[in-house]
Amino acid sequence: MAYQTINPFTNQLVKEYPAHSNADVQAALEKADALYHSDWAKGDIDQRLPILHKLADLLDKQNEELAKIASREMGKLIEQSRAEVTLCAQIARYYADHAKDFLAPVKYDSSLGEAWVEHHPIGVLMAVEPWNFPYYQLMRVLAPNLAAGNPIIVKHASIVPHCAETFEHLVREAGAPEGAYTNLFISSGQVSAIIDDDRVQGVALTGSEKAGAVVAAQAAKKLKKATLELGGNDVFVVLDDSDLQKAVQVGVQARLQNAGQVCTAAKRFIIHEKVADAFLSQFSDAFRQVKLGDPLDESTTLGPLSSKEALETLTRQVEEAVKNGAKVHFGGKPVDHKGNFFEPTILTHITRDNPAYFEEFFGPVAQVYVVKDDDEIVKLANDSHYGLGGAIFSQNIERAKRLASRIETGMVYINSLTDTAAELPFGGVKRSGFGRELSDLGIKEFVNQKLVVVSHQ
Ligand code: NAP
Repeated sequence: MAYQTINPFTNQLVKEYPAHSNADVQAALEKADALYHSDWAKGDIDQRLPILHKLADLLDKQNEELAKIASREMGKLIEQSRAEVTLCAQIARYYADHAKDFLAPVKYDSSLGEAWVEHHPIGVLMAVEPWNFPYYQLMRVLAPNLAAGNPIIVKHASIVPHCAETFEHLVREAGAPEGAYTNLFISSGQVSAIIDDDRVQGVALTGSEKAGAVVAAQAAKKLKKATLELGGNDVFVVLDDSDLQKAVQVGVQARLQNAGQVCTAAKRFIIHEKVADAFLSQFSDAFRQVKLGDPLDESTTLGPLSSKEALETLTRQVEEAVKNGAKVHFGGKPVDHKGNFFEPTILTHITRDNPAYFEEFFGPVAQVYVVKDDDEIVKLANDSHYGLGGAIFSQNIERAKRLASRIETGMVYINSLTDTAAELPFGGVKRSGFGRELSDLGIKEFVNQKLVVVSHQ
């Protein structure tokens, strides 16, 4: 696939980026592997952590410029791009401050002797990343692995080459040595060849279920560890005792943020029958007030989808849903505009035999289901191939906690949308993938947890 910047607001080609050759791939592998075998990777963590501090400072300093690059390249509202860059700086700083503790030796009481687990880097990693958070996705892999000493080779999504290149430059500017982080504009075939290479010890992929299945199979064939952060069909549960005004306000944000292109966006709204009419009416009113426009215009509240293909896929999915019995309560079609706009949309009456019931809609389309009690909520929430995040709105926290425990996902938030922070683990179950990023758990995914025992005998 060609690496191109196409402005999603105008669909104008801005710049094309030349692909890297197989020789470039070999050179990248050599440099990364050489770094892995150096004292920089295997020695004291204190020589690596200042790079993350510097990177955080650079991100903060260049926030506006970086935000504009992302907004122009994939259509994110400028305010949300700024927030993404800020979050990246927080993640870099978090690992700079905490990685040493996370990777410190851990003692084990044992009858066999004095025992402890040390944490060592395992080697070069291949990262495959999506466009929807074009910096944050990179940082989730870079920060913990730079701290741990694993060099990374990255294939970013082909529609965000400017973000990919910019991020690589920042990492170098922060002081990372050659080979610590290499961005390559490569094909799926070249990714596969990298995964095959003996110098590579692990793969981290964030993206669709389809790409995850392909890449995980390639890794499994060579017995290499993979972490997968894939799609979601998250529920947004509104109980009869919730603060309805807050639920509506957060629900709109949870569905429309990043033009609905968030893995943990609220996709299935499960509403208690006692508040369903009121919720739907207020939710529609809020959708009516959405202002579509240029993502760089501060007054815009809904930007374009990231690409023409994304718009075509979403349009097809909504048409198919309606053909199979769904009712369009609000919106329902693409907007007549040169950019990739889809109306904020609410679908109701989706039955289990409708393909929409199990599909992830990556755009501003909310599915609304009405239920009568908590058992029905759990049944519907768990009747999904995915298991990423979820949100529950209730003023009865104990009731919400009980429900949270019963929902089969990697994350549940009560009275908030599914969020993310450097210090909290991120990841899912079922076809949403496996492994965790961020927090203390994320940094342990690609380290050798090596046991050493000094025998008592
Ligand atoms: P995608 O098509 O799977 O693309 C993601 C990345 O995988 C891109 O770099 C893509 O490259 C690459 N890719 C695709 N097929 C590949 C293959 N066979 N071998 C190697 N690389 C391959 O995903 P998307 O549709 O752009 O992104 C949206 C999906 O990502 C949604 O399902 C969303 O829920 C999920 N997501 C999950 C998380 C999470 O943390 N769980 C976060 C964000 C997004 P090209 O661009 O060149 O095709």
